[in-house]
Amino acid sequence: MRCFIVAFPMKKATREHTKAHNRNLILNEVYSRGEVSRADLARATSLTRSTVSEIVTALIEDALIVEVGHGVSAGGKPPILLNVDNEARHVIGIDLASGEFRGALINLRGEIRHRVNIPVGRLSGERALFMVYELIDELLKLADRPILGIGIGTPGLMDVKQGVVITAVNLDWQNLPLAELLQDRYNLPVCIANDSQVSALAEYSFGEHDQISNLVLVKVGRGVGSGIVHNKELYYGDGFGAGEIGHVKVDEDGDLCGCGNYGCLETKISSRVIRNRVIQIVKDHKDSKLYSIWESAGEITTADILQACLNREAYVVEIIDDVSKDLAKALSFLVSILNIQRIVIAGSVSEFGDALIMPLREYLQPCALSILTENTEIVTSSLGEKIVMLGAAALILQNELGIK
Ligand SMILES: [Zn+2]
Repeated sequence: MRCFIVAFPMKKATREHTKAHNRNLILNEVYSRGEVSRADLARATSLTRSTVSEIVTALIEDALIVEVGHGVSAGGKPPILLNVDNEARHVIGIDLASGEFRGALINLRGEIRHRVNIPVGRLSGERALFMVYELIDELLKLADRPILGIGIGTPGLMDVKQGVVITAVNLDWQNLPLAELLQDRYNLPVCIANDSQVSALAEYSFGEHDQISNLVLVKVGRGVGSGIVHNKELYYGDGFGAGEIGHVKVDEDGDLCGCGNYGCLETKISSRVIRNRVIQIVKDHKDSKLYSIWESAGEITTADILQACLNREAYVVEIIDDVSKDLAKALSFLVSILNIQRIVIAGSVSEFGDALIMPLREYLQPCALSILTENTEIVTSSLGEKIVMLGAAALILQNELGIK
């Protein structure tokens, strides 16, 4: 039952494969179009009407799709319209973020029905694993629909085929067979992937994008990483590390990074680095609002910095401009290698919005062939801090129902 993220083998399809393929084809069509008749489905999929009817009957028996009324008659009897029952199944989406484990019960359209957050501080090893169990136990207590599966997004490198956490530094996990452990405990399908990778899938599945099959998402928060959706599916790379741009060197004389190298992108643009830079500079700006916050509270949050940026506090705008410059260097490689024309910036640093994105677009232009950069669109995500949970749920929807 573990999620094996592989395509059908290229051998002659067996009857079972064909059946599963056709079922996914129909379900996908109903999911993406909504309110369709059996005749529409036959036309759109080129399957025979009797095959469509047979599959629709099975999907209705399975409660995944429902009859929702009648369409307009083309002369004869008005056709019965079908749609997906969005609440037919719920998915558990988990985000093992630094400092807080977040979980949600999510319906088939990416709408959160219940949430549980557990502050975890500095948690590692077995204790972190038990906290994951506690989070899932809490969510299952709230469940009022059949659960389709458990999707997990976590910082680190995952073997998504085997469901093994190869390394997650923040949780001190190495070669942990997380999917198998969870599957044995809960008897549900389990998928795991890197948090930036699942964020890209969340953006593709539930973001504000019409008619696209490819996108790159760059997540900039405590860590920096990216995910690549190619042809409606995540591209993981041969060693599952595709998109790991946080440790690309952008500064020859840069600071030591947690990975052991110097000058990584993460040491220049993470939320922690931005905050530290602001704290260093704020002491020279005693007339600024941030200085008074610093003086009274003893610390400055990302929200304070964001407000200062909105107020066009010059030294804050300059720091964000530097962030854009370094991010542009890393993006230039993604744009040149992948030529994917939609880039989405997510994570807490994306909240700087135009102050980040407008200079980013300008800095990107001279960093790569203009014909590539001119046609690349950079936008911010609208999914906020729930993005990893949604992406983890989308992974289950793709793997269990074939919804893309
Ligand atoms: Zn590094």
